[in-house]
Amino acid sequence: MSKICVVTGGSSGIGYALVSKFIEAGYQVFNLDIQGSQLGNYIECDVANVTQVKQAIAQIIEQTGKVDVLVSNAGIHLSANIENTNEELLDKVFAINVKGAYAATQAVLPVMQQQKSGSIIYIASDQALIAKTNSFAYNLSKHALASMAKTTALDYAAFNIRANALCPGTIETPLYHKAIDSYCLKSGADKKQIHHEEEQLQPLGRLGQPDEVAEYALFLASDKASFITGSLQVIDGGYTTA
Ligand code: NAD
Repeated sequence: MSKICVVTGGSSGIGYALVSKFIEAGYQVFNLDIQGSQLGNYIECDVANVTQVKQAIAQIIEQTGKVDVLVSNAGIHLSANIENTNEELLDKVFAINVKGAYAATQAVLPVMQQQKSGSIIYIASDQALIAKTNSFAYNLSKHALASMAKTTALDYAAFNIRANALCPGTIETPLYHKAIDSYCLKSGADKKQIHHEEEQLQPLGRLGQPDEVAEYALFLASDKASFITGSLQVIDGGYTTA
């Protein structure tokens, strides 16, 4: 029987690449997203809604009997400093980026404990390690995911369940394009120029691609990474070393 992988937010960007990469590697992949997708087994699910996440994962376990890998990836970005982040916006970012990961983790842990195996990967960010300007709620949420990886790793190591946070730098996805579109709209800056400047900010001189993140996640999920747990794995073209 093929291994079972659950990906949240698998209909676009990094999530789409994750679904594609795990299918290629022989996994049966379930994608929990609010946006439909033809790739893998799509289940409509808002990760900000704990009940919906629990129902979706219960449905998968009923169908397959197990979950080998959870990649908690669904997330949104918000460009705002603390004064411009009202309570509603803060709650929204936390509901999707943090509570969604909490709900998915809670839902897979019982079956992973029975199996005495499992790999949980949180798609965090370089912003789990460093801060960036105008990114108050997002920075907080990604630091929270780093903590979730560490505490889950410690609490469930006895069950051979590994939990790690994957920390990508700037990756060229629809989220990235939305973020610079919104910046250009507010500032009147030229998108081509801003994109070029973003590339030049990366020591490797280019942005990362979703496929490169998915390849790393596939490694972390596999037995090749059997001694890696509670860690923050950086994939950022050198950005955080500069
Ligand atoms: P994206 O916007 O291209 O894709 C995000 C996916 O999440 C979409 O399919 C969207 O429908 C889904 N989603 C959003 N809200 C949801 C909800 N409430 N319930 C279920 N699904 C929901 O974004 P991306 O760039 O691929 O980002 C994926 C993850 O990687 C995010 O957690 C993001 O913070 C993280 N990340 C991205 C970058 C980057 O530069 N793109 C860098 C570091 C980390």
